[in-house]
Amino acid sequence: MSFQVLGLDSKILQAVQEAGYTEPTPIQSAAIPLIIAGHDLIGIAQTGTGKTAAFTLPILTRLAAQPAAGRRATRVLVLAPTRELALQIDENIRIYARHLPLTVATVFGGVGEHPQINALRAGTEIIIACPGRLLDLVGRRNGDFSALQFLVLDEADRMLDMGFLPSIRQIVKQLPQKRQTLLFSATLSKEIESLTHEFQRAPKTVQIGRRANPAETVTQLVYEVPKHLKPALLLHLLREPQMNMVLVFSRMKHGADRIARSLEQKGIRTATLHSNRSQNQRLRALKDFKSGAVRVLVATDIAARGIDVDGISHVVNYDFPMHSEDYVHRIGRTGRAQAVGDAISFVTPEDHGELRSLERFIGRGLVRKRAEGFDYHAAGPAQTESSREERPRQQRGQSQSRPAPARSRAPQGGRTQGRGGGGGASRLVSGNREGGNVNSSRVVPSSGRRPFGSR
Ligand code: AMP
Repeated sequence: MSFQVLGLDSKILQAVQEAGYTEPTPIQSAAIPLIIAGHDLIGIAQTGTGKTAAFTLPILTRLAAQPAAGRRATRVLVLAPTRELALQIDENIRIYARHLPLTVATVFGGVGEHPQINALRAGTEIIIACPGRLLDLVGRRNGDFSALQFLVLDEADRMLDMGFLPSIRQIVKQLPQKRQTLLFSATLSKEIESLTHEFQRAPKTVQIGRRANPAETVTQLVYEVPKHLKPALLLHLLREPQMNMVLVFSRMKHGADRIARSLEQKGIRTATLHSNRSQNQRLRALKDFKSGAVRVLVATDIAARGIDVDGISHVVNYDFPMHSEDYVHRIGRTGRAQAVGDAISFVTPEDHGELRSLERFIGRGLVRKRAEGFDYHAAGPAQTESSREERPRQQRGQSQSRPAPARSRAPQGGRTQGRGGGGGASRLVSGNREGGNVNSSRVVPSSGRRPFGSR
């Protein structure tokens, strides 16, 4: 396909040619005609796909078609999470708009505000801004957006992660309702979807990239949490009504039972799925989960392998997976069939090594998040002491006196030890590097090892 067929203004085509672009990228071919036709748009694409030109070229075409009457006014506002991105967009727009009489300015923190105030007051046609500084300046009555035609939210997922939503809301309040809103994000999470409902009208969606890979449709978040606060954090997160179909992973079946019991005690309908449960109990658990009779299903890795349930809103890695492949399997339970979902991983200080290996394995860093309103300093039960004594994870699993947590390749259902008792196991094994067999006994904790055991 050539740029000629996309309906771009001739001066913009000339600039594109001068930039050396011979043909549009997939997101450009898909998005440009929709934007020129006046649609709101959700663009799911990563950086490097040509998404900046995908929204800039049609916007410039529309601006060129309707020169501003009278005095200059801001007609385009692009919101971006970082000043680097804002500068990059600015640079691109200047290239594509070089044959048009349009003015462009950037607004972001960390630099003097006077040139930015002047640009806003002068009615610069295209403003590229980071939400924080823009809100600050607009709050002091700089800038007039009453003639605004286009709002672009670029890297919207990152803006949400960085906590810009309240600022964005304040800014959008100042914009005309009748406008075209374009939203770009690397992923289509539940939060992004609700953002589009809030800010867009009947948007068209354009999706570019490796959709089939569950990791692309699943928003992956890491919550760092001390071990003893994991139960409280799970309860805290479950207050969110969007968490309506939640699959929780526990490494151990007894851990799974304990999680389920503690949720049930708080009135959250929960089922469990692990190898100590009879076939009938497992089928029942799945049926109740699918029908919505229970909101949470707590499962072990092996038991969850066969789960084929659509509509799981969240996967919670309550216990961090021992193997990166398990992680991919786990989070693949959500975001199925083109739907989106969230994968939440609880990461304790002891899990950091595994987290780093996982990030290498999946080839990307995971976003760290803090739970809003959660008391991270709440005193833990006496078991805090045992967590301090916990030896490094790589030593675990090599000791017979303290078997490794579920090596997920091992069959479940071997020797079980019931609830862990005290907190002394870590003392027994320190430095013990005898190679243990990977057998069924390894799927159960030695006494006192699990965080719930001493709870
Ligand atoms: P972006 O995804 O917007 O960050 O763009 C990535 C890079 O691709 C930028 O350096 C653009 O200049 C370049 N680019 C965008 N569209 C095209 C195109 N159609 N042909 C060649 N390069 C392009």
